[in-house]
Formats: sequence, structure tokens, C-alpha cells
Amino acid sequence: MTPAQTQKRLTALVKRYSSALGLGSWQIMVEFGNIEQTDPAVSCFAQCAATSEYKEATLRFDVVRIIETKGSLDLVVLHELAHCVNSELEDLCQWLMFDGFRAREEMFRRAKERSATRIERCPWPKA
Ligand SMILES: [Zn+2]
Repeated sequence: MTPAQTQKRLTALVKRYSSALGLGSWQIMVEFGNIEQTDPAVSCFAQCAATSEYKEATLRFDVVRIIETKGSLDLVVLHELAHCVNSELEDLCQWLMFDGFRAREEMFRRAKERSATRIERCPWPKA
């Protein structure tokens, strides 16, 4: 799949799964481009920035990295949309940890990623 085809497919999957996940009333923007790698142990090829109070999110996909890893586009999209579903809880947890204890931040990061991955790996019907 070419980068252009991948972008088109990702956009269609965002539309499909956002509705399935109850995010139909959200404004979800889709962007494509490089994603800075902040943790050498984790390859990051997509990001979600969501504001639950306004039902808005921007999903950013690093198409080059996604194609390189040959991962499932469905799972990538579902994972990022799961962060939208969980965004209110994620924001609350982040706020409660404003004291900045590193261990708590890491526990929170792992918990939110596990939650997103659980939603991502539900037995979704294939498009
Ligand atoms: Zn994640």
C-alpha cells in the first residue's frame, strides 16, 4: 500500500470506528506526518490529542513508520480512538498526579495504554 493509499484508508477507518465507539458527535481531525520518538524503547507511530469537554481530538499518523512496521491499520486507529473514549478519565488521572511523582506517572501511562489496547483488541468486525 502506498503512503497515499494508507492515508486514505486511515481516514476511512477513523470515520468507521469513531462511530462504532460512540464518538460520532466528536470533531476528529486527522493529520499525517513525522512523530518525534521520545522513548527509545517504544516505537510511536500514532498520537491522539483529545479534549473530552469539547469532544474534539486530533489524531496524527506517521504513515512512513506505519508502513515500515506492517502493522494492522485497524488496530492503530482503534488504539488512538480508544484514547478519545478514555480521555476524560486520562485527563482526570493526569490532573490528580500534578505533584509529578515519576513512578505514579509511569503507572498511569501504563494503565492508560493497557486500557486503549483492550479496546483496540476487541473482536471488531472487519471492514
Ligand atoms: Zn496509546
